[in-house]
Amino acid sequence: MRKPILAGNWKMFKTVQQALSFAEHLQGLANDAPDQVDTVICAPFPSLYALNQQLAGGAIKLAAQNMHQAEEGAFTGEVSALMLKDVGCTYVIIGHSERRQYFGETDDSVNQKVQAAFQHGLLPIICVGEDLDQRSQGITKQLVEGQVRAALSGVQANDVPRLVIAYEPIWAIGTGQTATAQDANEVCAHIRQVVGDMYGQYQAGLVRIQYGGSVKPENIEELMLQPDIDGALVGGASLDPGSFAKLLKGALAK
Ligand code: PGA
Repeated sequence: MRKPILAGNWKMFKTVQQALSFAEHLQGLANDAPDQVDTVICAPFPSLYALNQQLAGGAIKLAAQNMHQAEEGAFTGEVSALMLKDVGCTYVIIGHSERRQYFGETDDSVNQKVQAAFQHGLLPIICVGEDLDQRSQGITKQLVEGQVRAALSGVQANDVPRLVIAYEPIWAIGTGQTATAQDANEVCAHIRQVVGDMYGQYQAGLVRIQYGGSVKPENIEELMLQPDIDGALVGGASLDPGSFAKLLKGALAK
């Protein structure tokens, strides 16, 4: 009932030429994306326009990795939802832990960005997750619940089924240390419960929840087979087209 969603988060990697070469390779390997999985590439801003030309009409969708909440204005160095729509983005990652950690993103700015994304017809992939310290204190669910409630504050019920939440434990990102599939599922199930509490079970049943943090072709199947995990947000293993094509195959396990 929920369509699986695999998103490759390239972070600050790849020039335009490298991005185009990836897309060409992937199109060759995966013979475009399978119908059963929503396939998304989250590329750096400078490559989005060219990637959109290259992927036009195909099944692979584009995402940005961040946006500003205002439509336009004197915000040097920022990019708006309107601009991202204009270059062909369907999705936008909001509140990635690296943005929270290095660029001062807060639950409040995340919430403003989520609302602005919906206003402009962009679908947010909202990232939440605990750090190692919080995990060892046993406050993971509490912490993630707070992030979800804050991110969704003021979001209309009819937008809820279109959003994606990515549960990404910070200690698992780029470390090769993955949460066990059961642990990841437990937190994802809690996120769904929180959405249910805010919007009702029906809406919660439609929201897609991804796991992210050292997902690889070798472990994606096990994660995807968990009942509350609907997809993956993948960093390192999404950079190589061969690896991405394998991730796609794994995502089909759902
Ligand atoms: P990783 O990154 O797959 O390299 O751990 C995931 C992410 O940060 O989205």
